[in-house]
Amino acid sequence: MSELSYVSGERHSAWSTYLAQVERVLPLLGELSRWADTLRHPRRALIVDIPLEMDDGSVRHFEGYRVQHNLSRGPGKGGVRFHPDVTLEEVMALSAWMTIKCAALNLPFGGAKGGVRVDPAALSRKELERLTRRYTSEIGVFIGPQQDIPAPDVGTNAQIMAWMMDTWSMNVGAPSTGVVTGKPVHLGGSLGRVKATGRGVYVTGCRTAQALGIDVAQSRVAVQGFGNVGSVSAELFHQHGARVVAVQDQFSTLYHPDGIDIPALLNWQQQHGRISGFPGADNVADEVFWSLEYEILIPAALEGQITAERAAGLSCKLVLEGANGPTLPEADDVLQQRGIVVVPDVIANAGGVTVSYFEWVQDFSSFFWSEEEINNRLDTIMQSALDTVWNKSQALGVTLRTAAYALACERILLARKDRGLYP
Ligand code: GLU
Repeated sequence: MSELSYVSGERHSAWSTYLAQVERVLPLLGELSRWADTLRHPRRALIVDIPLEMDDGSVRHFEGYRVQHNLSRGPGKGGVRFHPDVTLEEVMALSAWMTIKCAALNLPFGGAKGGVRVDPAALSRKELERLTRRYTSEIGVFIGPQQDIPAPDVGTNAQIMAWMMDTWSMNVGAPSTGVVTGKPVHLGGSLGRVKATGRGVYVTGCRTAQALGIDVAQSRVAVQGFGNVGSVSAELFHQHGARVVAVQDQFSTLYHPDGIDIPALLNWQQQHGRISGFPGADNVADEVFWSLEYEILIPAALEGQITAERAAGLSCKLVLEGANGPTLPEADDVLQQRGIVVVPDVIANAGGVTVSYFEWVQDFSSFFWSEEEINNRLDTIMQSALDTVWNKSQALGVTLRTAAYALACERILLARKDRGLYP
């Protein structure tokens, strides 16, 4: 499928999923489709070796990446993932989804992503700090407030961003808060950033539910993934009267038909490090999660979770993609045929990068906004992006994903065309 020598072409890989999504939008691009190959070629990819001295004195090597998929509309933007399954191809796809996401939201960024193939939970705090600092130094030539701005993703957090900011600043010889976003608030971070992705899922979810005639306060919700995105979305739906009937993390699946007490589950997770054993719900087999009764499904874990088979068994009306790339292209077709509406990742989970944009702007001006200001601006941007995509999908008779890709690809390829090729 891909013409790039360094990709596997594996059918269900994240990069193959991305290419299939681009393929679907080509007929809608008119004259601009002349430039569409740009979307299939990452601009730059850096592979780095990270030698790490472990606490026991041994030395281990880890593989890291930073991919800048497209810089036509502005500096690269996108998170850094620490996970044992990270590959170059996965980071390429994640960087491409950032290009589409930033353009769909009309943020002045291109798309980038980074990753290290490591299990962060298996490292001590000191080992994690050394790994982060060495990775940052290795990709230091690539990143910068005007070049490419990393942020948190799966397996990374505000502390890791603080180490990245410090390492880059020490290497260039001046404090530079704008080189990463998602930092602690006392180090140039933004209020509202931690909850921004979950908030965006909730805000776009409510607006879509309203358009479909689904009463959120009467609805049942299932959430896959109880990290930063899944737990915050679950909390918001719970706070607004919805029953969160199922929650799945990497170890177990919880179910309660009357709804799970989400604040109590968050407390349990904080104490035990996982959701299993929570007394307020039943443990069910993981695969059962997909065939339970609920109206709204929020996949907020990793890629490729909604397969065609699982899509065929879903009983929900609405899917809100908190994760990046959770739905395979064949599953998208099944969902469309079955009338299940999907708010795609590039809209639903864009709250995080939107508040990252606010953080970057605040760092440049060294003038910080109130949480209320941030949340209001976030809600406005998310709602208006969703409305534009909704109207486009109605006008063209396509899914919300294809409409979002059409909007984003038009913006990216117009920038590509008008900038021209140089040198
Ligand atoms: N990792 C997040 C995402 O996938 C946020 C990226 C950012 O804030 O730059 O959208």
